[in-house]
Amino acid sequence: MIAQEGGKPVRSTRLSYGRQTIDDADIQAVVDCLKSDYLTTGPAVEGFESDLAQYTGTKYAVVFNSGTAALHAACFAAGVKVDDEVITTPITFAASANAVLYCGGKPVFCDIDLATYLIDPAFLSHKITPKTKAIIPVDFMGEVADMDSIMTLAKEQGLVVIEDASHSIGSSFKGRKVGCLADMTVFSFHPVKTITTGEGGAVVTDNRVFFEKLKLFRTHGITRLPDYLHNSALPSWYYEQQALGFNYRMTDIQAALGRSQLKKIEGFIKRRQAIVGAYNSAFSELAGVILPKTADIMETCRHLYVLRIDEGVLKVDRDTIFKALEAENIGVNLHYIPVYRHPYYQSLGYSESECPSAEIYYRTAFTIPLFSGMSDSDVKDVIDGVFKVIEYYRENQNGTV
Ligand SMILES: *Cc1c(COP(=O)(O)O)cnc(C)c1O
Repeated sequence: MIAQEGGKPVRSTRLSYGRQTIDDADIQAVVDCLKSDYLTTGPAVEGFESDLAQYTGTKYAVVFNSGTAALHAACFAAGVKVDDEVITTPITFAASANAVLYCGGKPVFCDIDLATYLIDPAFLSHKITPKTKAIIPVDFMGEVADMDSIMTLAKEQGLVVIEDASHSIGSSFKGRKVGCLADMTVFSFHPVKTITTGEGGAVVTDNRVFFEKLKLFRTHGITRLPDYLHNSALPSWYYEQQALGFNYRMTDIQAALGRSQLKKIEGFIKRRQAIVGAYNSAFSELAGVILPKTADIMETCRHLYVLRIDEGVLKVDRDTIFKALEAENIGVNLHYIPVYRHPYYQSLGYSESECPSAEIYYRTAFTIPLFSGMSDSDVKDVIDGVFKVIEYYRENQNGTV
């Protein structure tokens, strides 16, 4: 009997859908920083930036105090201004679109491919207008968007591509690592992401002009020694504000944690891949759920594992399944409510009719736990819980809702 109907839950304690993995080396790195001369913008920030550039195979990395700040800075560097349009996917965290609004621009939502849940390149070209400035594809779940088509289209149209890789650090696309696929690539180091700094983010790029703008934006738009003044006779105290930036700096405490986490990323990736492999082979045998079509599993560092209910097989709705899994103490979640559905976006005039595939996705999707610290028995609990609930509702089609 499922727990929702009074049976014993699969687990006695709740398993969350995601969480950080912190070890003694991480703790020591933070303690060492606290005892050092610098708490912010010191050697750890510089070191983390050079580690990130090296890891992703890019020339430049700039770290920020959140992934959202990194997205905002990337939009600024791309030159997004009032009335510019920027195309992104509705199946993402609101920050991907909010960053455009911060710059006075207008997010334009392009529907997803219902097989991959990623922005559909076939629809993308129809969304381009003379006002389009940039595209923000999102590597949802850690699956890399079709960057070949997106970059080709962007080059033809003179658009900047900012890849929101908040989910996909460590993933590759056709043998090329995430970081060197787009004009700028944004990472997030929130605790549920593959590596964490508590709060934090970064932009990596090969473009020197973008790099300079990102650095400027991070500290109020203020620069100490502007390039064009290098040989002037100005005093050493001189600084000037050249743009309206923000205080988006990451602390050295966070960067020290980030450096320590990045050293362990290969292990985190392998563990996530092993869990995804176990889920894939289990759930491909389960009538009633739909798995996303994925690229080569070895190319992908999955951040999220999303299942959809198969409405042709199950007559109960997603919320019934969701509640039943919660009752089994399996920490389910929903990634994401399409951004245009939020009341704020509705107040700006966005409507639901534009993205029919995103609507189907939203009606049927749920996220199950995935993080590198999950034990084999946690993984088994999730598989058992999903089988128990789906099989129950397959046989008891009336549900309770
Ligand atoms: C986590 C995330 C961000 C950035 O979030 P922060 O919490 O600001 O680091 C942006 N986009 C997506 C898709 C995310 O998942």
